[in-house]
Amino acid sequence: MEICCVGGFEEVGKNMTAVKVGEDVFLFDMGFYLPGVIELQEDPNVEYTTRGLRRVGGIPDDRVLDKNGWREKVKAIFISHAHLDHVGGVPFLADRYPGATIFGTPFTMKVLDSLLEDAHIHISNELKVVQPNSTHDIKNAKGNIKVEFVHATHSTIDCAYIALHTDEGVFFYALDLKFDNHPTMGAPPNYSRLKEIGDNGVKLLIVDSLYSGTEKKPGGEKIAEHLLEDAFSKAKPGKDKAFFITTFSSHIERLNNIVKFAKNTNREIIFLGRSLAKYVDCAIKVGKCPFQKDIKVIKYRGQINSILKRIQENRGKYLVVCTGHQGEKNSILDRIARGDTPFKFHEGDNLIFSSSVIPTEVNIIARKKLDEKLRRIGVKLQADVHVHGHGSREDLRETLELLRPKHVIPAHGSLEQETPMIDLAKEYGYKFGETSHLASNGKFFDF
Ligand SMILES: [Zn+2]
Repeated sequence: MEICCVGGFEEVGKNMTAVKVGEDVFLFDMGFYLPGVIELQEDPNVEYTTRGLRRVGGIPDDRVLDKNGWREKVKAIFISHAHLDHVGGVPFLADRYPGATIFGTPFTMKVLDSLLEDAHIHISNELKVVQPNSTHDIKNAKGNIKVEFVHATHSTIDCAYIALHTDEGVFFYALDLKFDNHPTMGAPPNYSRLKEIGDNGVKLLIVDSLYSGTEKKPGGEKIAEHLLEDAFSKAKPGKDKAFFITTFSSHIERLNNIVKFAKNTNREIIFLGRSLAKYVDCAIKVGKCPFQKDIKVIKYRGQINSILKRIQENRGKYLVVCTGHQGEKNSILDRIARGDTPFKFHEGDNLIFSSSVIPTEVNIIARKKLDEKLRRIGVKLQADVHVHGHGSREDLRETLELLRPKHVIPAHGSLEQETPMIDLAKEYGYKFGETSHLASNGKFFDF
């Protein structure tokens, strides 16, 4: 088994790994590096194309697979979940592997459809929708190769660990990972299957190590539910006050909890913004949007402006769920703060951030500016009403105990974030350079 660490090593974003078994190559994820993509979208001189994205480092540099002839051997592309740092690059790269079938769970594949539609891109690859906890034979593969999607909990729906079962053992791809034993939608992680796969013999584990240096176990979504309940009860806006809340558009489980408490306010629940509309629509299409009937979704700018005008005049009638939790340019909150809509925040209005700031320079600066503007007006802000979706040291310990892989490679973090995973592996007898390894983008390993 050989692997190429294409993207997402010693960095957070543009995840992609290639695995070669015999004469077949399999790709795991094709993600965006979001700061690069944002930079591109804001620069009118750079095209939103594969070439433009390569220029700003917005997609994995998979040209590394051309040099040694791996590119022609790619049989399948497996996508772990619907976050853009895992699926965003598919429209721009998949065509380089025309014979490869793309596998993903229902929600992930619906999101991929919408990304293709937004980019006006057609790809020739066969698309195969697979259920979490299902196993599939790979066509044309020599030997006995099966791929298994194992249900995982994270911060969007339909997430999967991907196990490639080969004659040499299992290649196990665990990006992204968090063990949530008390999810509020769907089942807890499939521990029993993870243990069975461990019993079968895992040759290599690539694992989400973003918080491998953190001892504190991240709360499950049940904790976020309680935090939201408190935030809503603290807010208690008067009849003349506006009530807004913002979160990650792809976090369907969180949106479900928000709607649950929003319903108690007796306000009409309005979802505003393109990305919210997109992910909610995908969840509806796969039958995983329990709050569908409780909300009105508004996507287009003209309609958004007219509803914001109504909210301005009838502040106590609506509860708005909107985009902009990172202060993103042209999100609903950014446009309101810039005075670009008919709605203006007033003193005593409520705004809940059911999110944390993703620590990139762009986001930190954007949120600081947004918060300052809102505070000056006297908006009642509640921030960090949130639990994140990445496991810490305790979850990673459990992963090692269940899977007992022969080799471990940390991923999905800077060098500083990945190194504690190497230390943790040491506790379990792994030797750095022999059975635990640090990868960088473009690096090959032969196991
Ligand atoms: Zn993720």
